[in-house]
Amino acid sequence: MVNRRFRTSLPNMEQLVSLRGIRKTFSAYSGQTEVLRGIDLDIDAGEWLSIIGPSGAGKTTLLKIMGLLDEPTSGVYRLGGTEVGQWSMVERQLVRLRSIGFVFQDYSLIPDLSVSENIELPLTFTSKRLSRKRLVREAVLRVGLEQREGYRPGQLSGGQQQRAALARAIANNPTILFADEPTGSLDNSTSEHVMGILRGLHDAGTTICTVTHDEKLLSYASRVLEIRDGLVATQ
Ligand code: ADP
Repeated sequence: MVNRRFRTSLPNMEQLVSLRGIRKTFSAYSGQTEVLRGIDLDIDAGEWLSIIGPSGAGKTTLLKIMGLLDEPTSGVYRLGGTEVGQWSMVERQLVRLRSIGFVFQDYSLIPDLSVSENIELPLTFTSKRLSRKRLVREAVLRVGLEQREGYRPGQLSGGQQQRAALARAIANNPTILFADEPTGSLDNSTSEHVMGILRGLHDAGTTICTVTHDEKLLSYASRVLEIRDGLVATQ
């Protein structure tokens, strides 16, 4: 057996993401559906890649695989230079918690926890209490939710929930941030606010990958990739 370093975070390197022949099949009552049919894609450190394509094309599925929230059925995913398929479950979880941020399309906040507790939860696995409190505070300030820290998601507007979800995703200062339609259901001013935060992160060196149909958000991307029927249509 080959002795190798145990991974807990992503190293600094030029090519962060490399996907080759990524396929994903889901089983449902109606049978098997192949949602991704052989995706090849590279993302360099510092890029802002935007993924577009019609509904059902496989964009969210792809984002979840890249964000280590799901696994491909076949193909090779190299993240930070090594093949994710070779990592243990613990390595996958640690890298995800330490180096990756993920903003879900439906926010996915925990309804019984306050804004601060939602942001803090993923940090409990990687940071000590004092630094956790500092990271939560910084994230809350970055998204401008200091007046709502103690509120539960059900007591917030959609825009505030999105900002809370963004705060949770960036609290660990991720190397790469994945955001699924981060401005999808926001009014103009909240959308501008969220875009401002994303731009600030990108300017500070965070690699960003968004799924979006929002023309304004698209204009900030350094590259746009179109997915159709589970394949890369144009890039
Ligand atoms: P997009 O983000 O481009 O709208 P998705 O990746 O969300 O597309 O979904 C692509 C297809 O995969 C859809 O037809 C969806 O129903 C199907 N799909 C997604 N997740 C699952 C799942 N867990 N089980 C079965 N089918 C799924």
